[in-house]
Amino acid sequence: MIELKKVSKRFGRVEVLRNIDFYVPQGRVISLLGPNGSGKSTLIKCILNLVRPSSGEIFINGASSTHFATRRDVSYMPQIARFAENITARQLFKLIGELRSLNCDPAELISYFDLLSHLDKPLGELSGGTRQKVNAVLAFLFDTPIIILDEPTAGLDPVSRVNFKQLVLREKANGKTILFTSHIMSDVEEVADEVGFLLDGKIVFKDEPRKLQDMTQQPNLEKAIASFIQSHKLHEIHS
Ligand code: ADP
Ligand code: MG
Repeated sequence: MIELKKVSKRFGRVEVLRNIDFYVPQGRVISLLGPNGSGKSTLIKCILNLVRPSSGEIFINGASSTHFATRRDVSYMPQIARFAENITARQLFKLIGELRSLNCDPAELISYFDLLSHLDKPLGELSGGTRQKVNAVLAFLFDTPIIILDEPTAGLDPVSRVNFKQLVLREKANGKTILFTSHIMSDVEEVADEVGFLLDGKIVFKDEPRKLQDMTQQPNLEKAIASFIQSHKLHEIHS
């Protein structure tokens, strides 16, 4: 599980996260939604202790996220992963496997994402989508109880996206706790048990995607979110 208690983060004068309480229970798939720049990646980086909150506390399976040992429990796919351009995917998988010193065998994931023919090319020569698949392999390579994915399906072709969603559901069935961000609402509808909606530095909604549709009386999640943001803005203006 992941728990944020009164977490705030400011970059200079800008307060990106404002007093956020957020709970991701064990075994659930939660999607973190919000417009560009709303702080989704910052919230994720706070959980990973890559960004230090200005105030508040974060717990990973009950232990403070400031303890380095909690990182062993978490796999992470960053929104933008940067590795040396001249190493190959095969070398990268070996390197990360050795660094984490956790059991792993990339073979199944490599064939799952159809990466066999790209394994020995320098990462710098791979297309954006293929790099994204390499990063996806890294996120699912280790048997950690928590998986955090920052816009994992951006840039993936339809077949890879379908495969990716299947993988998320498989890991969920294995009892994993999964937190992911996405702008692709069909992904969210298909895999998320709950959505957390980040707006103006606060979690303004956290419930099943269906509830957001009911609340806004919209036919799909994309329209529900657009309508929700609109009414939230109107409310802000009038209050
Ligand atoms: P999202 O992932 O929701 O698109 P981000 O968390 O990346 O949003 O960014 C939220 C806000 O925080 C943006 O206004 C961004 O410019 C700002 N921000 C993010 N990281 C930094 C940083 N390291 N220094 C200064 N500002 C930052
Ligand atoms: Mg982001």
